[in-house]
Amino acid sequence: MTDEFDEGRPSRQPTPPQVTKIGDRDMHPSTLMMGYGYEPRLSEGSLKPPIFLTSTYAFESAADGKRFFEGITGKRPGGSEGLVYGRFNGPNQEILEGRLAQWEKADTALSFSSGMSAIGTSLMAHVEPGDVIVHSAPLYAATEKMIDAMLGKFGVKWVDFPAGASPEEIAKTIDRAGEIGRVAVIYLESPANPTNDLVDIEAVAKLRDDMFADAEHRPVIMCDNTFLGPCFQAPTQNGADISLYSLTKYVGGHSDLVAGAAVGSREALAPILALRNTLGTITDPNTAWMLLRSLETVQLRMEKAQANARAVGTFLRDHPKVERVSWLGFLDPASTQGDIYRRHCSGAGSTFSVIVRGGEAESFRLLDNLKTVKLAVSLGGTESLASHPAAMTHLSVPEARRAELGIGDNLVRVSIGVEHEDDLVADFEQALKAV
Ligand SMILES: *Cc1c(COP(=O)(O)O)cnc(C)c1O
Repeated sequence: MTDEFDEGRPSRQPTPPQVTKIGDRDMHPSTLMMGYGYEPRLSEGSLKPPIFLTSTYAFESAADGKRFFEGITGKRPGGSEGLVYGRFNGPNQEILEGRLAQWEKADTALSFSSGMSAIGTSLMAHVEPGDVIVHSAPLYAATEKMIDAMLGKFGVKWVDFPAGASPEEIAKTIDRAGEIGRVAVIYLESPANPTNDLVDIEAVAKLRDDMFADAEHRPVIMCDNTFLGPCFQAPTQNGADISLYSLTKYVGGHSDLVAGAAVGSREALAPILALRNTLGTITDPNTAWMLLRSLETVQLRMEKAQANARAVGTFLRDHPKVERVSWLGFLDPASTQGDIYRRHCSGAGSTFSVIVRGGEAESFRLLDNLKTVKLAVSLGGTESLASHPAAMTHLSVPEARRAELGIGDNLVRVSIGVEHEDDLVADFEQALKAV
């Protein structure tokens, strides 16, 4: 038994030895994705984990059952020592959670049935009536709805700041929130959807530590890492307590599943685990198994998609019918955003906005004339997609607020996949001729 293995898979018994190092060198997450947290010996030598389709687990003794339940219910700290029931956990989910944590070098992770169930469960677990959530803007539309409409029903309030705000502006926002109630959570989305604005997570963590040094409660910092995770950004390494994912996007990567995750320290995740155990917002064994397969290629896919994004983005940026392309790879290193990028991100991803010259009509003509790039919302799949946030994902956002957030009628959001880059450039070239 080794500590590394225990870290990755908190409750599965027995715990076999697990190789995470060669000599004293730590292996990279992309290598660990092939086998970490799974011991073939325990499953008839099967090289790959089977899908464990069971709702309940047999205990070897009544005393074991009692001990496992003590862990589940929190009567004893440290989590459960064994598997109990499908609403709490399962082998496929535990392997997945161990592997997800590797990317951020975090204690642990929790898997969820969707990105929104990860976000919703995490927020609900950390707020009480009368609390205030301070959040960056814009947010994924359903997250905004969760905070405003759903948590609002329970007396939770919110105050926001623009994603690109300076530390001084963010401090003022936190001050303002403190006048309304207890600041329970600082919720970030970086890069923001669909503008790609980055939040200075490091600065937010420093503000939190300074401003709440003597406070009874320190707000929990959560950051939605869907756009760059798990390969190009690790918010928990930059000061966030919890990193949130829609695994539906880059991690799943094939537009064929819906799932989510929360990654962080055992302490920050403990209330979220308790609520997940109560609600059953955990991912199912089939989806967890598909995600294990996806994680084996996530680095390959994200790197190829990023290279394609550079090719397509460069073509579009120089096109006379395009005003601007806001891709992280094009940030000026001397700018404030460029500085955050350098400190937080190791890659630019493959989702960006194209600001077309014109308005909705011109944007729609571009979208309607694409031949291989599909017209669909979502992102991070092997195939390239394009959509119109103002008319689709952000349609429910009031027009004035959309303008404030920089989501205009001439903004087309593109998620670049792993096709041949020349075909993607050719597709945009012919579609722009029709504009
Ligand atoms: C898609 C998405 C979500 C929600 O995830 P689901 O898996 O659809 O529930 C949350 N945040 C961001 C940034 C997203 O892109």
